[in-house]
Amino acid sequence: MKLFLGGVRGGGTRSDADFLRYGGDSSCFLVEGQTGERLIIDAGTGLRAVEQRLADTAPECRSVCFLFSHYHLDHLAGLPHFQPLYTAGWTIELAARVFDELTIEDMASSFLHPPLWPLPLEDSAATKRFRILDDESMEGAIAYGDLQIRWCPLHHPGGSTAFRIDETVSGKALVVATDLEWGESSPEEQAWLEQLCRQPAPADLLVFDGQYARDGYERFRGWGHSTWQDGVALAQQAGIKRLLITHLGLDMDDAAADQRQKELHTAWSEADLARQGLLLEL
Ligand SMILES: [Zn+2]
Ligand SMILES: [Zn+2]
Repeated sequence: MKLFLGGVRGGGTRSDADFLRYGGDSSCFLVEGQTGERLIIDAGTGLRAVEQRLADTAPECRSVCFLFSHYHLDHLAGLPHFQPLYTAGWTIELAARVFDELTIEDMASSFLHPPLWPLPLEDSAATKRFRILDDESMEGAIAYGDLQIRWCPLHHPGGSTAFRIDETVSGKALVVATDLEWGESSPEEQAWLEQLCRQPAPADLLVFDGQYARDGYERFRGWGHSTWQDGVALAQQAGIKRLLITHLGLDMDDAAADQRQKELHTAWSEADLARQGLLLEL
């Protein structure tokens, strides 16, 4: 199983020269299964880089499933530009929990619709399928090919969702948990995420929203994001092998990101700051 980071920025995008080493595109993660499955977690502007990885897909393999953590724009803004949507022969599944009484079909059909976007989603050429996810999947996983998908709710304004992907053939597992505020999560919410990280076995990789540092966090309490130290503590407690901190703030230029990377790596040698374009083989 591989993970490709299409975009790791939170809240919006940056295109300035001093943001490009870590990348300025917003959240989008591609999970590639050994037997050809492609899951895309969130559709921020990093979807453009993900789309480039899909460019050589053979006609018989043209299917992809989007899992949306929530509907905030930094996790959606790439979707209208996703060319496979407008290409006959592609099958595109869109899956999410219900937020503010809106299903993923309600949300995508109103977002990709005039006056916000010229071409209505229902007129796009790809075959679309929509899937409503229950609030949690503690009872069992859903299967996408050889990949098992589990999830749990996260503490975030309006709610968000963490996803865990297990690959049967390799026994590898990863968890993507963005956006969440650990410091404001109830004990029950913390237990859900810890359980997702631990069961059925500790995941190999955790991607965690650590936009802030403990020093300075109080100013942003209630904004919906965690500190990188929360990510290190959770990963170590849950027996996770490797940690990537994502949802990089819009004010974190490459020099500040280098500094954050140094602090992270000093705190735990298995922790790194996420970087756009990174490809990890688990
Ligand atoms: Zn976000
Ligand atoms: Zn959000």
